[in-house]
Amino acid sequence: MDLKGKVAFITGAAQGIGKEAALTLAANGASIVATDLNMDLLLKNADAFREYLPLAMNVTKEQEVNAAVASAIEKFHRIDILVNNAGITKDSLLLRMSEAAWDAVLSVNLKGAFNCTRAVARYMLKQKKGTIINVASVVGLMGNPGQANYSASKAGLIGLTKTVARELASKGITANAVAPGYIDTEMTRALPDSAREKLEESIPLKRLGSVRDVAQAIAFLASDEASYITGQVINVNGGMYM
Ligand code: NAD
Repeated sequence: MDLKGKVAFITGAAQGIGKEAALTLAANGASIVATDLNMDLLLKNADAFREYLPLAMNVTKEQEVNAAVASAIEKFHRIDILVNNAGITKDSLLLRMSEAAWDAVLSVNLKGAFNCTRAVARYMLKQKKGTIINVASVVGLMGNPGQANYSASKAGLIGLTKTVARELASKGITANAVAPGYIDTEMTRALPDSAREKLEESIPLKRLGSVRDVAQAIAFLASDEASYITGQVINVNGGMYM
């Protein structure tokens, strides 16, 4: 995949799927604007990149998002790829879920993507070209006990993806979602061995996904090879939902 000359703006890029997406897009030639709450980690990662702009940014804060997008434009003069990846979980069963846990998850996972999409789309419209990739989740499609807030946020993100795809298609801008299943990250490493084994057994491909599995799908959607794909949800889940 040739991403030379393209600029990618990635949220939640300090670790996990976001970091791997940044590395994969960079390996294919893209310049990277890496944004996250955790600036220390973004700076620690800097050596792995050639063209790299790390920015501290909270996706829930419109002004911070606008400022980060302005800094990216100042340095690279364009944004071709937006990856809305920043996400959190605050799990508990519905009746025990606090309003604060609901609001926090919806705010980061859904409003965050709205803030970033609105800020970046302004420039993509001027360019008459761009692609937006939202990192959703398999639980946005199938639901999951204990994740009312998270699964609602990811289902909402899929709705946002399809609306953005319809609104911006005539302007040369595509929007798609990647819906990972269970991926081997800090989050899933915290599971006890027995829970992990049960999980693996429930996945047709009999393993958790890797951050690389997800990053490769993101890189494909970011490339010109995917230019006729819009409004889609690409499942990267080992077959656990089909
Ligand atoms: P992670 O916790 O390892 O990384 C998330 C990053 O987002 C962190 O660096 C964090 O600092 C950043 N972040 C959190 N809140 C933020 C905010 N308000 N503003 C800016 N940055 C913020 O998570 P991960 O496992 O790499 O997940 C990345 C994305 O993939 C998330 O959207 C998650 O919902 C989704 N996902 C993960 C899995 C999985 O199994 N790990 C499965 C499906 C979907």
